[in-house]
Amino acid sequence: MDRLFIADEKAVRGGDTMDIYFERTKRILDASGLSSVKVCAEFTGSSLPKGWNWAVFCGLEEVIRLTEGLPITIHAIPEGTIFRPRTEESVRVPLMNVFGSYADFGVMETAILGMLCQPSGIATAAARVKSAAKGKTVLAFGNRRMHPAISGVLDRSCYIGGCDAVSSKIGADIIGGEPVGTVPHALMLLMGSNEAAFRAFDAVIEPSVPRIMLIDTFSDERAAALEACRTVKGLKGVRLDTPGSRRGNFKELIDEVRWELDMNGFGDVEIIVSGGLDEDSISKIVHTSVSGFGVGTSISNAPTLDLSMDITEKDGGPVSKRGKFGGRKYAYRCPCCFRMGVSLSPDDAVSCACGNDMEMIETEILRDGKRVGPMRTASEIRKSVLEQLDRIGRL
Ligand SMILES: [Zn+2]
Repeated sequence: MDRLFIADEKAVRGGDTMDIYFERTKRILDASGLSSVKVCAEFTGSSLPKGWNWAVFCGLEEVIRLTEGLPITIHAIPEGTIFRPRTEESVRVPLMNVFGSYADFGVMETAILGMLCQPSGIATAAARVKSAAKGKTVLAFGNRRMHPAISGVLDRSCYIGGCDAVSSKIGADIIGGEPVGTVPHALMLLMGSNEAAFRAFDAVIEPSVPRIMLIDTFSDERAAALEACRTVKGLKGVRLDTPGSRRGNFKELIDEVRWELDMNGFGDVEIIVSGGLDEDSISKIVHTSVSGFGVGTSISNAPTLDLSMDITEKDGGPVSKRGKFGGRKYAYRCPCCFRMGVSLSPDDAVSCACGNDMEMIETEILRDGKRVGPMRTASEIRKSVLEQLDRIGRL
């Protein structure tokens, strides 16, 4: 069979996805006897896309897995850290510092940046949607908008950003959960009627899968909702994926379905909505009786963060290109407002524009190629993101 256009793990680790100039640089360094020059390289970001004033740092675990075994040491802020761009001064804050011979990790720059930039963008978009959902359920349904080769990365990033569950098997496997889903319109159309589809789903699918039926295919949502309740015993919810052309006032449609369900004794049946939702449209309907949101494109199509890697020390002395600041820097963050700061020593006191003292938040994660400290699960990282989101809501 002809190959698919994807890079598998062997290709990424073997360097097939790197920008070729890194491979050429390595050959030149080797030929010039400079392979063993020790450097510190920092990974920093400038301004954030879309006018965002904070972002979620995501993708570090995959970077550790990529670089484990290389003769390098890595210090980074914890994965899941919510950080704000530093606006008061131009010095960029290192989210990660790598120490070692440039020849040993320079060729990984393309892969490392990709593993941080895109996941951080997706996790930030997910966190913004989760925040707009005010604690209600958010299901990540964006896989179909992205290349399948990155489904696992996409779903993990969505989950770390705060989504409650993901739709792909590979994503669920990576985060340690079960994939979630309801019913596609295709099944409704092939079965020919609401009742036939509801009944068939209930008969075939194992009882552990929550029964959430789609109610916008053939008829009025109110009628279909009641039909679902009467056909499927123990129905957990109904999903409205009503197309924009038929929505009219979506909020009123949701209220109407809720009213009908309550009036007929189905007060515990939840309403899930999906279809082109983003943080703005969710904000408009979050105060209705809707229980959860299925969100796709607005999260999966998140802008990637513009991070870059720069050498800041060579043979123990500071260096930098024009426009950057030399010297190994430590990352600080204000525990109150999440503004970031830097210092040239981990023991310095750094104060925040808000008047509080910042904390040094960088930790060693890889020492001479060996992982330092315990591996954090996706759900532990997600929990810390949700706690920080709660704080952002109160800033
Ligand atoms: Zn502050």
